Amino acid sequence: MRELTVFGKLLLGNALVPGSITIVGDRITDVRRGGDTDKIADLAADIVAPGLIDLQVNGGFGVEVGADPSSILTLAQRLPEAGVTAFLPTLITSPAAFYPQVFEAVRAAGIPDGAEPLGLHLEGPFLSPRRAGAHRLDLIEAADDALFNSLHEASSVRLVTLAPERPGAAERIRRLRERRIAVSLGHTDATYEQFVQGVDQGAMMATHLYNAMSPFGHRAPGVIGAALVDDRVTVGLIADGVHSHPASVRLAVRAKGADRIALVSDIMPAAGMPPGVYIFGGQQVTVDRLTAKLADGTLAGSIATLDQAVRNIVRWTDATPADALRMAGDVPARTLGLPDRGRIVTGAIADLALLDDDLTVRATIARGHVVYQRP
Ligand code: ZN
Repeated sequence: MRELTVFGKLLLGNALVPGSITIVGDRITDVRRGGDTDKIADLAADIVAPGLIDLQVNGGFGVEVGADPSSILTLAQRLPEAGVTAFLPTLITSPAAFYPQVFEAVRAAGIPDGAEPLGLHLEGPFLSPRRAGAHRLDLIEAADDALFNSLHEASSVRLVTLAPERPGAAERIRRLRERRIAVSLGHTDATYEQFVQGVDQGAMMATHLYNAMSPFGHRAPGVIGAALVDDRVTVGLIADGVHSHPASVRLAVRAKGADRIALVSDIMPAAGMPPGVYIFGGQQVTVDRLTAKLADGTLAGSIATLDQAVRNIVRWTDATPADALRMAGDVPARTLGLPDRGRIVTGAIADLALLDDDLTVRATIARGHVVYQRP
């Protein structure tokens, strides 16, 4: 079988350690510490990290996650430019009849070359009408048990974002967890207590902390307070400087630490594309160099890819490059319960991001194949 050797400072645990990795086929077969390699590496970089895993990708590079499998193939092909080797195609609240088409598209896309789609993140439809954000209010209000049953049965669903205060949420969380589908609480107007109950019932994450959730008040800490202090909860964080002020990002890092933050991009179709007007979730979105907004100013996803979030974390907080990379690899892998991703260990899937010391992506390896090399 084909063998590949990669050399650089390896992200091992919490530290960057000079060493080398041997890959045979699609697996890491050996990890060696130390700078003295007895053979010349096939690839070298300043930093060698586990491939980044993005739990929230609505689209990008001109395509939107939807009924057309070619959108998922485009994302699989382009996301390695950001060091991403696995992702959850993410569907915002959609008409009931649309979901089966998207399940079929994910099935048809299979495991393409490039970044691997690990299953869908359904963001909605069981959200709070009071925290709809860019989701369609009529569809949130129309979501019923029949729709839940059909979504719950779908084998391609990996993560569901829902609001814990919605009637029936406890039962839905329980049923999703029985099927080992991860549950994140988001687009929620819950009280502190309602959020904690959702976690007691099995939810393990908060979707895009600070955004579309009840705010922090010192006497009513709400979702933000609960998500920041409950150690059972991993927070999804969009570190683009738009969805969260850099000081808020710093607060999250101080409260949660690197082990409880999953960086997410929340990118939409205009990511990797020039400014202009795009369609996202059936609505018109105006995109400039930093933001994507509906006509009324509501943010409609992000345009900063996950590698940018990693660099921002290092720039804005006390986190080290190793910490920031863990937030984009190890933490999302653990949140999804994937022991063979997100870490550089013997036996793991050979998904790697090769970076310069300034954390720009030089090359990306997915399942042992070089799927991106910077020109
Ligand atoms: Zn959202």
